[in-house]
Amino acid sequence: MISIAKKETPKELEKLVKDSKNYRYQKVVEKIKNDFNNKCYLCEIKESTSINVEHFIPHRDDEELKFKWSNLYFACSHCNGIKGYRYDDILDPLTDDIELKIQCLMDLVPMAKVDIVALKNDIKTENTVKLLDEIFNKDSDIAGVRTEESRNLRKKVLDELRSFTNALNVYYFEEDFEEDRIQARKEIIKHLRCKSQFTAFKRSLVRRNELIYEEFKEEFTK
Ligand SMILES: [Zn+2]
Repeated sequence: MISIAKKETPKELEKLVKDSKNYRYQKVVEKIKNDFNNKCYLCEIKESTSINVEHFIPHRDDEELKFKWSNLYFACSHCNGIKGYRYDDILDPLTDDIELKIQCLMDLVPMAKVDIVALKNDIKTENTVKLLDEIFNKDSDIAGVRTEESRNLRKKVLDELRSFTNALNVYYFEEDFEEDRIQARKEIIKHLRCKSQFTAFKRSLVRRNELIYEEFKEEFTK
């Protein structure tokens, strides 16, 4: 989960959703998808095949909340299912500086669990850490499907982190192959931008290394 730049409310679509009590129109979903960079705002999987329009504040059948444009977020069905009604007081990626409050870490070994670390001790941060931990590390006998989904998700994070650290290795160590270094630098930048998949993990890794952070911190706002 990273911070996302807030977009202007599209007045026409806002009215359409409210008047028709329906947010499933293609143009509505497409706008929300683009506003959230085609990523689940919680786990940051990109171009998921199972997407949901998610209610940031659970609507509990309150029609005002259910069809309010500013309450419609973009999530994958795994995260939407886990968040449900249980997490109604979490950090908001559109207004909170998520990356200064939460670190997302993972060891680069098979079967590693994800380590979500709170950097602040307010209630919203703590709830968000709990939710993200459940999303990435679900391990429950009575929730077998979610457990498998979490495992698949961790595998994808691991693949992405491997590709990112490979680019870092080439950039910092391949001194004899300048062209490869130039290409690796471009890859690092792409990995760190908000449209990339699982950006929180890559940015958390970079923040822990002063030298790399100094060189690439400008990409954190793009
Ligand atoms: Zn997700």
